[in-house]
Amino acid sequence: MKDDRYIKIFEDNQRWVEDINNTDIDFFARHYEEQNPDYLYIGCSDSRVPANEITGLSMGDLFVHRNLGNVVANSDMNMMSILQYAVEVLEVKHIVVCGHYGCGALKAAMLPHKFGVLDNWLRNIRDVYRFHKLELNEIKDLEQRMDRLSEVNVEEQVLNVVKSSSVQESYLKKGYPVVHGWMYDMRNGLLKDMNIDFKATLQKVQEIYNLEEDINNNNHYPIYQYPKTSK
Ligand SMILES: [Zn+2]
Repeated sequence: MKDDRYIKIFEDNQRWVEDINNTDIDFFARHYEEQNPDYLYIGCSDSRVPANEITGLSMGDLFVHRNLGNVVANSDMNMMSILQYAVEVLEVKHIVVCGHYGCGALKAAMLPHKFGVLDNWLRNIRDVYRFHKLELNEIKDLEQRMDRLSEVNVEEQVLNVVKSSSVQESYLKKGYPVVHGWMYDMRNGLLKDMNIDFKATLQKVQEIYNLEEDINNNNHYPIYQYPKTSK
C-alpha cells in the first residue's frame, strides 16, 4: 500500500529537481563528477538530528555516518571503513562527532533492561558509563545525568576516532584532520562546540596507542598505495 504521504515524497522530489534545474542547470552533472567534502560527520541516527540541516551545509559539503548513539567502535567495519575512506581518499580537514541531548540510545543504555541484539551495541555506551561512573552517579537528577552521559560519550568517541591509524598518520604527515566534539540540543536547536583540545587528545592517545614510529619509518602504506610485488 502506498499512502498519500509516501506518494508525496516522489512528487516533492520532482519539484525539487525542477527548482534546482531552473537556477543551476549543471548542478547534478557537477555533483555526479566528484565529491570534495571538508567534513566527516559522525552522529546519531535519530530522525530529529539531520546532519545537513543542523549545520546548514549543502550537498557535497558533508560526508556522513550515523548510528545509534554516535558510537565509534573499532569492531564496526562500516564505521572504520568510512573513517579510512574519508581521511585517506577524501582527505577531509575536520571530523566531527556530534552527540545530542535526549538520545534514545543513551536512555536505553541507562535502563536495566534486556533488548536482545541491541544490547551488544548498547554495551559500547554502557562501557562509557563505566569509565565515568563516579561522576555520573553523583548526579541525582536523571535527565541531567543523561545529558552528562551524552557529553562524555562524545568525548570517548572523539578519543576512539583519534586512536585510528588513518587519523594519526594523516595528522602527523599533513596536519589534518582535526577532530571535534559537538552537542546538539533538540530543546532549542542549538549546536555547541565542546572545544575538545585536539592536540592534547592526540598526545593522550599516543601514550598508549602510538603509531608514530611506524609512520615515520614509512613502513605503513595506505591501502590504495601498496607497492606492486614482482614475481
Ligand atoms: Zn540519539
